[in-house]
Amino acid sequence: MNLMYHSTRNSSIKVTASEAIIQGLSPDGGLFVPEAIPKLTISMNELSKMNYLEIAYEVLRLYLTDYTEDELKDCISKAYDEKFDVPDIAPLKKVGNMYYLELFHGATIAFKDMALSILPHLLTKAAKKNNISDEIVILTATSGDTGKAALAGFADVEGTKIIVFYPKDGVSKVQEKQMVTQKGDNTYVIGIRGNFDDAQTGVKKIFNDQELAERIKKAGYRFSSANSINIGRLLPQIVYYVYSYVELYRRNEVSEGEKINFVVPTGNFGNILAAYYAKQMGLPIGKLICASNDNKVLFDFFQTGVYDSNREFILTISPSMDILISSNLERLIYHIAGEDTDKTKDLMNSLSSKGRYEITSDMKKNLEDFIGGYATVEETKSAILNIYEETGYVLDTHTAVASSVYNKYKDEVGDKTKTVIVSTASPYKFAESVLSALGKDPIPENDYEQAKVLKELSGVAIPKAIEELYSAEIRHKNVCEIDEMKNEVEEILKKN
Ligand SMILES: *Cc1c(COP(=O)(O)O)cnc(C)c1O
Repeated sequence: MNLMYHSTRNSSIKVTASEAIIQGLSPDGGLFVPEAIPKLTISMNELSKMNYLEIAYEVLRLYLTDYTEDELKDCISKAYDEKFDVPDIAPLKKVGNMYYLELFHGATIAFKDMALSILPHLLTKAAKKNNISDEIVILTATSGDTGKAALAGFADVEGTKIIVFYPKDGVSKVQEKQMVTQKGDNTYVIGIRGNFDDAQTGVKKIFNDQELAERIKKAGYRFSSANSINIGRLLPQIVYYVYSYVELYRRNEVSEGEKINFVVPTGNFGNILAAYYAKQMGLPIGKLICASNDNKVLFDFFQTGVYDSNREFILTISPSMDILISSNLERLIYHIAGEDTDKTKDLMNSLSSKGRYEITSDMKKNLEDFIGGYATVEETKSAILNIYEETGYVLDTHTAVASSVYNKYKDEVGDKTKTVIVSTASPYKFAESVLSALGKDPIPENDYEQAKVLKELSGVAIPKAIEELYSAEIRHKNVCEIDEMKNEVEEILKKN
């Protein structure tokens, strides 16, 4: 029997796992959720004999039931290969008495690689299984990080093309360089003269253009998205929570069944939601500590039960967490509402019309797994400096938010449970802010010099992803106006 998926807003819209991955978003605007969260039945003892890829198979086979064993294993081995600079894929580092789960050893040195390296393979297999012979064209608008991770994931994946639009003057120098040097004959990167919202609106328009969809279908193409609400991005993230527990068990740091906490630097709520799924599967997890930066809409939500996005958007030094609408929270809302799709739909309608909603007291009771916390920019910088002075380990600006939030929680509550800090980016990706937190003189605009100083301070080798940037050839030079985006897409599809 296949595990089926349905919309968070309507339980009669039912699809298989592979269909959910192809569709991305449900036609009613809801997110796909599994009809029941499967339980981990394999023992810790058996898991402790497995490597990352084998554990990935044990977790994913429970969810992706319409993929064969061979198909799934093929996706996993194509995803977690030498694109990662360490064989253990997601190393768990013990520093002092803390554990850091380093999710930044993939192609773009940030945690989005964990899911975006497998999604292209899940997607192309899904197309085959559903007799879709069209080539899949991924359209993405990016404010920096996701675009590069998606490009790296889809580069040279047979049966796909990827087109990324970014605001020409709205991303960092390193981010732009990472994108315009992307290799792969199926990759296209275009700067637009506009901001991120313009790019996103433009992409949505192309997606909703029925006439265009029909025209490209005749030429053998169909559009798809690599957005973080795709269930094919959520499920691979469950794996590293299981993996990190297995690592602690292997090293005799926990006994079987002993609960551990996770602290997760959060933006769109995808990463921490995967931890919630791991807990529901039976992994012994105590608290899930949701760490926000100054954009603390989630902290306020956990405090009050009111989600209110009507507030000032604050630019911080942890830009990947600068988010006011955490789209994956919808899945949690559905679960804490007792899987009531009508209630979920009402709340989400309220979010889109008023920018806010309030959950019931019963739903609030179901949030007891979660602790919300936040750190200001000053607190984030202090965390980088303190951990460095105490241990010599250098945190990036996102992981530092988690570190700061955890220390405040521990001091306040006195919880002595072993705790893993989920580390979402390499400090090399945000070198300028990290060096400033460490009290170093600024070296503006010179990422090469910044990396050299960081290497001396941390003793960690400069990652390949950064090293390669200095000599990489610029392959993408297209820039267009906002109203030319559709035309650019059609030109690309015409040429090939
Ligand atoms: C995307 C991102 C986050 C936020 O993760 P969500 O799943 O959106 O909550 C945190 N840190 C880094 C470095 C990221 O790139």
